[in-house]
Amino acid sequence: MAAANQRASGMRGAANGAKASSSGTRLQVVDDEQRFSDELPEYMEHRWGLADAGFDYNVVAVFGSQSTGKSTLLNRLFGTKFDVMDEGNRQQTTRGIWGDRGSDAMPVLILDVEGTDGRERGENQDFERKSALFSLAIAEVLIVNMWETMVGLYNGANMGLLKTVMEVNLQLFGGRREGRTLLHFVIRDHVSPTPLESLAATLRKDMDRIWAGLSRPAGLDDAQLGDYFDLKFSSLPHKLLQPERFEQAALVLRRQFTDHGSRDYVFRAGYKRGVPADGFAHYARAVWEKVVSNKDLDLPTQQELLAQYRCDEIAAAALGPFREALEPLRPRVGAGEIVDGLGKAARGARAQALGSFDEQAARYHAGVYERKRAAFVQTLDGELHSLALNQVKNALSWAGERFAGESHKALEAAAAAAGAEGGEVAAEHSFSAVVGGVRQRVAAWFGAVVADLEIEDAAWTLGPEIKHMNAMLDAATDKLRAAEMDRALEQLRQGAQDTLGETIGEQLGSPGAAMWASVMGGFDAASARADAQLQRRMDLAEVRDAAQRRQLEQRLHRGVWEDAVAALREETTDQMVLLKLRGALEERFRYDDAGLPRVWRPSDDIDAQFGQARAAAQALLPLLTKIDTSASRVLPDPIAAGAGSFFPAGFAAERSLALISGSRARELAKRFGREADALYLEAKRAMVTTQNH
Ligand code: GDP
Ligand code: MG
Repeated sequence: MAAANQRASGMRGAANGAKASSSGTRLQVVDDEQRFSDELPEYMEHRWGLADAGFDYNVVAVFGSQSTGKSTLLNRLFGTKFDVMDEGNRQQTTRGIWGDRGSDAMPVLILDVEGTDGRERGENQDFERKSALFSLAIAEVLIVNMWETMVGLYNGANMGLLKTVMEVNLQLFGGRREGRTLLHFVIRDHVSPTPLESLAATLRKDMDRIWAGLSRPAGLDDAQLGDYFDLKFSSLPHKLLQPERFEQAALVLRRQFTDHGSRDYVFRAGYKRGVPADGFAHYARAVWEKVVSNKDLDLPTQQELLAQYRCDEIAAAALGPFREALEPLRPRVGAGEIVDGLGKAARGARAQALGSFDEQAARYHAGVYERKRAAFVQTLDGELHSLALNQVKNALSWAGERFAGESHKALEAAAAAAGAEGGEVAAEHSFSAVVGGVRQRVAAWFGAVVADLEIEDAAWTLGPEIKHMNAMLDAATDKLRAAEMDRALEQLRQGAQDTLGETIGEQLGSPGAAMWASVMGGFDAASARADAQLQRRMDLAEVRDAAQRRQLEQRLHRGVWEDAVAALREETTDQMVLLKLRGALEERFRYDDAGLPRVWRPSDDIDAQFGQARAAAQALLPLLTKIDTSASRVLPDPIAAGAGSFFPAGFAAERSLALISGSRARELAKRFGREADALYLEAKRAMVTTQNH
C-alpha cells in the first residue's frame, strides 16, 4: 500500500515538472548525433522489464512541433518522466528520440521524438524524415500533437510534418496492409467554441488533400488514405488557463491507452508490427541503421533478419543447458561405459532444449522459425546420435564379450554333462541349443540398450546397429562353432585311437599273415564309428554347408589315419622290430609246440631246428616294412591323394605307408642275424654244459 502510494506520488511529481528528469527510466534511444544507444537491450530487459512480454506490449510515438507540450502530454498519459521545457527558460531541449515505458502495469513503450520543427528547413527536415520513418516502422500509434490554432493552417509546419509521415508510410508499407497505423491527433489548448468534430473534419480534409497531392509509387494510384491509417481525434483544455479541466481531460484520454475494455481503446491487433519484445532492441537498432544509412527499409526482410538473428541467439542459449546436462555422461560413455538412463537423459535434455527454443522462437517470422528449428533439431540430434552410437559401440563390444564368455562356459558345462553321459550329447546340450540360448539373452539385452536410446522423432534410428550386432554374433557363432567342431574332431579322433590302438598293439605284438587284415578291420570299424558320431555332432552344431561337412569328415579321416600310422610306427621302431623278430625266433626255437621250454639233447638236430625258426622270424620283417591297406573297405584303393576324396585334398597318404625303408630293413636283418647267432651259440653252449654234468 505504502509502495503503491509512493509510486503514485512519484508519478505525479514527474508529471508536474522537469525536476525529476535526471532520474527515472528514460533512455535517449537516438542521440543528437543520430547515434543509436547501446543500452536499449539492457533497458528493455532490466529497467523496463519488457523483454519477456512476447507480443503483449505496445509502442507509441509522438510527433509534433517543438514545445507544443508533447512531453508534458506523454508524462500525463503514461507516467513517464520525459524532459519538459522549463516555463521560465524557453530553450530547445536536446534533439533525439527518447524512450521510456509506461508506468505500473502498462506494458507500453513510448518514444518521445524531440527536435522536430518544420519551421527550420534543411538539417532538421532530414532528422524529421528519419524519425518519422523509424517511428512508423515500430510504433502502432502515432500521436500527432498540435495547438488548436494550428488546425486549418494548411501551409503551416504541421502539414509539412504530416506530409512527411504519409510519404514515408507509403515508402515503408507500399502495397501491403500489415502496417496499419493509428494517427491519434491531440489538439491542445482547445479554447474556442468550435466543437471537436469540426476541428476533426478540417484535419481530415487537410489529410485528404495532402494524400491526393502525394507522389505515389507506381501501382498505388488507387491507394486510399484509409488503407493505411485510422484517424482519431481528441482535444485538451488549456493547461494554464484551465489547469483542473486539463488534468481531468488528460485522465480521460489516458484511459484510451490503458483500458482494454474501452470502446476507444487504441491498441488494436491490426496495428501490431509483429516484433516480439525480446527482439525489439535488435530490431529497432537495425531499422535505425538502415534509416540513417539511407538504405531501403524493407520491413518483412527486416523481420526475417531479426528472426534469423534471434532464433540463432535463442538456439545458442538453449544449447548451453542441453550440453551441460549431457556433459557429465559424455566422458563416461567415451570411456566405454554403458551409462544407465542415457536415453532418458538425452530425451529429457532434447525436450527441454526444444521447449525453450519453441517458447521464444515461435513468435518470430514463421518461415525463418521453421527453418531454424529444423537446423536446431539437427544440431541436437547430431550430438545425441554420436553419443548414442558411442554407447551402442560399447554395448556391442560388451555383447561380444558376454556372448563369447557365456557361450564358452555353457559349452563347457554341456561338454561336462555329455562326458557324464558317456560322450553322447543330448539335444538340450547341443551346440545350437546352448549357444542359441546365450545369443537370445545377449541379443535381448542389446536390443533393450538400443531401444532405450531411440528418440521418437529424431532424424536417425539405431536400426542398423541391430544388424551390426546380428552380424557380429553370426561371426562369433561361426568362430565358436569352428572351435566346437575342432573339439569334436579331437574327441572323436581320441576315441578312435583308443580302440584302434588296442587292435594295433595286439596285432603287431604277435605279427602274422592275417595281421594287416585285422588292423584294417579295426581301422574301418573305428573310422565308421567316428564318422557316425561326427554326423551327429555336425547336426547338433548346425553345420549345414555340405562342403564344410565334407571338409570336417576329411579332417577326421586324416586324423584317425595319422594316429593309426603313428601307433604303427611306434610298433616298428628298431627296438620293437628286433624284439618281435627275436620273440618269434625264441618262440619257435626255445619252446616246443606245447609251449614248454626245450631241453636240447645231443640227438636233436639243433641246426635244422634253428634254421627253421630263424627263417620263420625273418619272414616277418617284410610284413612289417609296409602298411597293407588292401583289406580295408573304407580306405581308397589305391590310397593315393584325392582318391575318393576320403582325405583332404593335397594330403599324400601313400607316403605314410612305408614303415621301414629298404636300407633300414637290411640293417635290421643284419642285426637280427647277429642276435640269432648269439642265441644259437648260447643254446649250443647250454647243451654242452648239460652233457658235462
Ligand atoms: P515539447 O517540446 O513539445 O515536448 O513541449 P513540453 O512538454 O516540453 O512543453 C513545452 C512548454 O509548454 C512547457 O513550458 C509546458 O509547461 C507548456 N505546456 C505543456 N502543455 C501545455 C498545454 O497544454 N498548454 C500550454 N499552453 N502550455 C503547455
Ligand atoms: Mg519534449
